[in-house]
Amino acid sequence: MKALVYHGTKDVRIDTVPDAKIEKPTDVVVRITTTNICGSDLHMYEGRTDVEKGKILGHENLGEVEAVGGAVVSVKVGDHVCLPFNIGCGFCANCERGLTGFCLTCALPGSAGAAYGFAGMGPYSGGQAEYLRVPYADFNCLQLPADAKAKESDYVMLSDIFPTGWHATVLAGMNPGDSVVIYGAGPVGLMAALSARIRGASKIMIVDRHPDRLQLAEQIGAISINDSKGDAVEQVLALTEGAGADCGCEAVGYQCHDHHGHEVPNLTMNNLVSSVKATGGIGVIGVFIPKDPGAVDALAKKGQIVLDFGKLWSKGQKIASGQANVKQYNRKLRDLIHAGIAKPSIIISHELPLDQAPAAYKNFDERTAGWTKVILKPTA
Ligand code: NAD
Ligand code: ZN
Repeated sequence: MKALVYHGTKDVRIDTVPDAKIEKPTDVVVRITTTNICGSDLHMYEGRTDVEKGKILGHENLGEVEAVGGAVVSVKVGDHVCLPFNIGCGFCANCERGLTGFCLTCALPGSAGAAYGFAGMGPYSGGQAEYLRVPYADFNCLQLPADAKAKESDYVMLSDIFPTGWHATVLAGMNPGDSVVIYGAGPVGLMAALSARIRGASKIMIVDRHPDRLQLAEQIGAISINDSKGDAVEQVLALTEGAGADCGCEAVGYQCHDHHGHEVPNLTMNNLVSSVKATGGIGVIGVFIPKDPGAVDALAKKGQIVLDFGKLWSKGQKIASGQANVKQYNRKLRDLIHAGIAKPSIIISHELPLDQAPAAYKNFDERTAGWTKVILKPTA
């Protein structure tokens, strides 16, 4: 089969590799019809993780079931399914509590959480390929309704960024009527804005410096804040009568930078502490990693940042973080799409065949104007 393979920093290629196959009776193989490029892929693409060369990337996957293992009971050949980026077993202590982003069975020994095509999250191949092996298929396949094909570009967002954006607002402790500030108007920040709107936020503020992304945020109903035009915190305070937002979301991660492009790993976290009100919650779904040899400073190399902890403490704020437990949300978010209430596909800028993925990585990585979210069609 054809697949997008990581060969090294900023070097991904379409290679011919062995077909994905059933390895355990609880597996299915899915013929991938849509698979997305994610901001998380860029951390690997930029050589800022320890992902191994030869890895097939791609964790935002949707397709049609091609083959079914002998122990699978609920999934049939031909079913249209969307796969959460996290791989869960369904029976470990964390999966049992719904914390499928922290599965203990599928993760590498001594860690929690597994995913397709991801650094540090197990030996699983990604789905930027013609076929994908799905472990524990009964648990991991989300069945799609009769409009699966018609709304494929919406449903594929259930694999990661729509649930992740939703999770950001949950981690932030957002309630209906709250104001929220979101740092990062990439695909994940935009999905956090969409989720905040559906969950009844009274005011959604989103910080970035790319006009095309900020414009999409406004279409979703957010107030855009361009931090290249003035200090982000001051702009949020001005919009909240000096108090700060009721809660905030981090949707950038450890490679956050100032608007000149200089990496400042603590920038978004300290901006959140300053622009969220006293007692407010901060939900961090932007990725931060424990070791980053490619980092700009000695602390960041060890996965550490200088946090305004005194300010956070005196404001009585709460921080919650981590990978999104996609399965906690994907079924109900699917129903919002089916009912016509959510349309996450509005952020898609490019729909391309798989063989154009290397160029798409380059453009998405450089945040070339207009490249917001790329979806790939391996069987096109
Ligand atoms: P992206 O890189 O396309 O978007 C990030 C955006 O942040 C960009 O538009 C950039 O201009 C902006 N930005 C950079 N520095 C900033 C700053 N100081 N202030 C405000 N904005 C700033 O990526 P994405 O696909 O939207 O993903 C965002 C983050 O979410 C990544 O770290 C990704 O790995 C992570 N992620 C986490 C989960 C999870 O489960 N927790 C799931 C998916 C993605
Ligand atoms: Zn993703």
